Amino acid sequence: MSLTNNHHFKDRVVVITGAGGVLCAYFAKEIAKTGAKVALLDINVEAVQDYADEINQAGYLAKAYQTNVLDLDSLQAARTQIARDFGLCDILINGAGGNSPKATTDNEFHELDLPNTTKSFFSLDKSGIEFVFNLNYLGTLLPTQVFAQDMMGKKGASIINISSMNAYTPLTKIPAYSGAKAAISNFTQWLAVYFSRVGIRCNAIAPGFLVSHQNRSLLFDDNDNPTPRAEKILTNTPMRRFGEANELIGGILFLMDEAYSSFINGVVLPIDGGFSAYSGV
Ligand code: NAD
Repeated sequence: MSLTNNHHFKDRVVVITGAGGVLCAYFAKEIAKTGAKVALLDINVEAVQDYADEINQAGYLAKAYQTNVLDLDSLQAARTQIARDFGLCDILINGAGGNSPKATTDNEFHELDLPNTTKSFFSLDKSGIEFVFNLNYLGTLLPTQVFAQDMMGKKGASIINISSMNAYTPLTKIPAYSGAKAAISNFTQWLAVYFSRVGIRCNAIAPGFLVSHQNRSLLFDDNDNPTPRAEKILTNTPMRRFGEANELIGGILFLMDEAYSSFINGVVLPIDGGFSAYSGV
């Protein structure tokens, strides 16, 4: 039985940013099965158009909108067009986010005799740090500024952000992404409090380690054996496996749906096989 049978969002307008990406495209396809009208927003319009077509061909309702989450004019244009196509936003999922190689060190630990060629903390590029902070933090704040205006006072209004394991304890090599996701967890709590009197709940999920086509080559070698970094992840995940995208959707639907979570506000739900609970000892 599909989980979506337990949730009824008929005629609700669900806006999803980053919907051309691996996780949010999957969320969009599942959420459409609940009867919602799904607006797929992404800077990469081809990706979202393909997913919207797929959803419509399956008999559900979706539309693609080319939108830059860092540009208020672009977000406002999407808001206006979605209002014409579907009505005002009920639920916002802030999915656009990610890291940059320019904000990633080569080394986990600094040492006195590192070769000059090592990209260490000292050679991280300022523009790479800005890119990551902007995409994750501002890319969540600005869509919320735009779409929450339409959600106030509406029954069942809800915002879902996407945090990460590195918000709890930073992962090595990716200081900007870790800091930006910590900011997302913090901002989720801030929004929950701020909007608590106007009927908008705000929560987040913090996915653990998933295998996707983007990171598969970092996690597995050509013979499908885990790389050293993958071994470390598995060692620190008590359930001793990676997660799958379909293991996140239950948390998303639960937090979206006031029938299940009407008094849950300001939580960051880890979906991580126990990673964040484990000290490693
Ligand atoms: P992804 O890279 O597959 O998708 C991100 C999407 O965001 C892409 O389609 C991209 O075009 C879009 N995007 C980038 N910049 C944009 C902009 N300025 N405006 C609009 N859209 C823009 O990412 P994913 O793996 O599906 O991750 C989705 C979210 O989940 C992200 O916030 C990510 O940080 C978070 N997350 C992912 C994982 C994971 O293992 N994949 C784990 C924890 C958290």
